[in-house]
Amino acid sequence: MNERACRVCKRLIEEGNECDVCKSNDLTTNWKGVIVVFSPDSEIAKKAGIAVPGKYALQVM
Ligand SMILES: [Zn+2]
Repeated sequence: MNERACRVCKRLIEEGNECDVCKSNDLTTNWKGVIVVFSPDSEIAKKAGIAVPGKYALQVM
């Protein structure tokens, strides 16, 4: 896995050096687990505080 996770919102970034969601460039390869959010209204998105659909790390070190 060479995707990087945003340290601010945990979004997984496949390309570039900036988070698509919060525009942070604080990315890390040191993360574990994946959450895929299809809808911000879903239970899992609400629990994780995710407002934009996509792939997120479960845990960022
Ligand atoms: Zn972010």
